[in-house]
Amino acid sequence: MSNWDTVAMPTAKDFLFKGGDVRIAITVAGQVMHGMVSSHALAMASPVWNKFVFPPFARLPAEDEDGFKEVKSRTQKAKDKDKRAVEELDFKEDDVDTLLILFRIVHLQFGDIPVSLTLDALHQVAVLCDMYDCAGLVQPWLGQWLSDGERAASNTSGDKWVFITWALGNKLVFEKSTSRIVREISVNNEGQAFGLTGELLSEKMPSNVLDNILEIRQKSIQKLLDIPYHELGRYRNGSIVCARRSGNCNALQYGESLIMQLEKLQLYPVKEGNQVHISVDSLATKIKSISTPYLPANLYGSHTYCGKHNVDDEVGKVVNNISCPTLDVHRQKLEKRR
Ligand SMILES: [Zn+2]
Repeated sequence: MSNWDTVAMPTAKDFLFKGGDVRIAITVAGQVMHGMVSSHALAMASPVWNKFVFPPFARLPAEDEDGFKEVKSRTQKAKDKDKRAVEELDFKEDDVDTLLILFRIVHLQFGDIPVSLTLDALHQVAVLCDMYDCAGLVQPWLGQWLSDGERAASNTSGDKWVFITWALGNKLVFEKSTSRIVREISVNNEGQAFGLTGELLSEKMPSNVLDNILEIRQKSIQKLLDIPYHELGRYRNGSIVCARRSGNCNALQYGESLIMQLEKLQLYPVKEGNQVHISVDSLATKIKSISTPYLPANLYGSHTYCGKHNVDDEVGKVVNNISCPTLDVHRQKLEKRR
């Protein structure tokens, strides 16, 4: 099996695993079908499946006929545990392609595991691994899947990507993608965050990562605004910024140049960071576009060095020094998943 896209839709037959002792219900193309899995294999692979297979609340025969408590051997206890195993497990709500991958790993059918996954398929794997607390299962394939997914992710917004790397526990990629998201997201009036393609960032984002991302985004926006506004302030407080003390040059730089351009960019009248809803990347591009017109050189010399000239550098400094929104608490959780 080489590519997810070329894989035929699974059939119920694919879910008849060797050694299967418990029935499962799955949904294939809208139809409920059944398969057989090994209850013990599932119980070992995921603590959640363990509870499905051996419900902790199931009643055990605790007393013998005479009302005395039995003293049980280990073997007897194991047999009782088997008795508790349920007859059918319900996987009808789960994505069937993803289930097949996880069950094949669980039943040691490693030759049938796809070597590459699309971003959506990888996202589904992350959803189920998160739900069933079994990210450890897919670790041997994760490097390959992520490297393919990373290429796919370069064309998409990163919230799916953040969840994938979060749920599957890849620290490096997670940190890289959250840093990227800081630059890519925009917000609306209600403070909700949107990805590059305009989708609402999923609520399934790791606890307080999104808050942290929004806070760092806000700080970066403010730093970017400070670049032209600081320049504006120099003219506003009445100082002559022109190197040749020319009022004409000053007026040109302030009025024609800064205010007009900031107005065009919808950054004038002066805005606070929380009034800017576009992304850090978009704002950086806008601010870099501000150009400085010069008075023509004349007898009294040139004005080439009047006004602001290192906007690109200053913007670059802000964008390249955005702090990473991953907190220690996230790092510890990511380590634990391995
Ligand atoms: Zn000048």
